[in-house]
Amino acid sequence: MVIQTPSPSLDPSVVDDLSSALRGRLFRPGEFGYDEARKVFNAMIDRRPDVIVRPADAEDIRRAVTFARENSLPVSIKGGGHNVAGNAVGAHGLMLDCSGMKNVQIDAARLVAVAGAGALLADLDVATQAYGLAAPLGVVSVTGIAGLTLGGGIGWLNGKHGLACDNVLAADIVTSDGEMLTVSPDEHADLYWAIRGGGGNFGVVTSFTYRLHPVGTVLAGALSFPAERTREVLRFYPEFAASCSDELSMSASLGCDAAGRPVFGVTVCWSGGHDEAELALRPLRDLGPAVDVVLPTDYVGLQSAHDADFPLGQNHYWKSSFFTDFTADAIDMLLQFATEMPSAASGVGMQQLHGVAARVDPAATAFPHRRSQIELLILAQWSDPAETERNVGWARAFFEAMQPFAASGVYVNDLGQEGEERVRAAYGANYDRLAAVKARFDPVNLFRSNQNVRPIA
Ligand SMILES: Cc1cc2nc3c(=O)[nH]c(=O)nc-3n(C[C@H](O)[C@H](O)[C@H](O)COP(=O)(O)OP(=O)(O)OC[C@H]3O[C@@H](n4cnc5c(N)ncnc54)[C@H](O)[C@@H]3O)c2cc1C
Repeated sequence: MVIQTPSPSLDPSVVDDLSSALRGRLFRPGEFGYDEARKVFNAMIDRRPDVIVRPADAEDIRRAVTFARENSLPVSIKGGGHNVAGNAVGAHGLMLDCSGMKNVQIDAARLVAVAGAGALLADLDVATQAYGLAAPLGVVSVTGIAGLTLGGGIGWLNGKHGLACDNVLAADIVTSDGEMLTVSPDEHADLYWAIRGGGGNFGVVTSFTYRLHPVGTVLAGALSFPAERTREVLRFYPEFAASCSDELSMSASLGCDAAGRPVFGVTVCWSGGHDEAELALRPLRDLGPAVDVVLPTDYVGLQSAHDADFPLGQNHYWKSSFFTDFTADAIDMLLQFATEMPSAASGVGMQQLHGVAARVDPAATAFPHRRSQIELLILAQWSDPAETERNVGWARAFFEAMQPFAASGVYVNDLGQEGEERVRAAYGANYDRLAAVKARFDPVNLFRSNQNVRPIA
């Protein structure tokens, strides 16, 4: 096998020196392990960084960041590798693959968990549920905690306990100059603010400290409605999602039945007392679901219930916007494009953001989208590369057609490579403050393989 040197300008001997200084692994292009390490969830992404470091600990990260800075290599960072934009792997530069840092420690008495940057949701959920506790995260257990938390993190507990980023008590981070900092409300408060919604712009987080909540068996499952009621349920859903109690969190989807008619389904998670669930779910049940399987469910089981919908090796192209309601014209568009979906693996998701997550002050963390709303996610997923144009075309046309009805802003974690204007829409009114924090902690924009905030003084 031919081992390629990392880059014409990169002296192989300095790469060797870095490799021998690490406790973890280093992969050069062509070496065994390199291709596996650069792989991410979205099969459309095929980039080849000059060097990949799989750190064993925070000290390895510090060495790798220092090396990258000294050799003018941009740094890309892979947590769980699930971001569809694929920024976890840079087209060149140094990539950090944090998959070797999945350690989770629980302090049940203090309701605190400390999780390494490579942990997946499942790692944290399994560890916390052993004590009847949970950190609010997302709804697919194979996603990485790092990217999800840094961009916000909307999941089954957002109504009752807020976003993942709202529950970060502290984090350890390596900044572009190789400093290892702990950030919290009392230490480097600006950086602590910025990493809760500002993404991976500010340094490499080596571990997150989460506030935990008691979470036992939840009442969860799916309700799906007959095709004749789709229009009526679509009109009802945003209003109900905005007004239901904090304990009820929902994620809906629009698909097609065997006859090609659009059908609406909603997965619910009730995290309050089981006796009160009937009252909370009654408005949905009054709409006459054809299927109603809401049952006591183990929380870890709920978290992995949708994993199979996202097999590895698929191509993905996503477009997302927030909505506060669906007008009659918007519903017409939804129904039209749902029936034109080119791949059966694709979907139209309607994730509810509400309750505690919606009531946080928009400036209190870097995540600005604080009001009850629905994130409409046009999710194209297909396996055959020959079908790329058709699937991407469908998602783009659908997105454009929905824009006249959309609210402002976009969720940074579901953003693709969509240009500066959309990045600004993701950070909203918090952009300028983020840019000032960026200028202090990463003036050279070493961390730019992300939804990038440009450093300004
Ligand atoms: C199948 C699927 C389901 C999803 N479900 C949800 C959901 O329910 N709720 C929700 O809110 N979102 C959801 N998302 C979106 C998800 O939040 C983002 O894709 C998120 O970026 C994934 O995190 P990751 O660590 O796996 O990503 P990665 O691709 O590894 O990282 C994404 C970016 O985060 C930054 N980053 C990663 N690790 C670090 C680190 N240690 N330090 C600094 N920066 C870092 C980097 O900029 C990187 O480019 C889902 C995505 C997928 C693919």
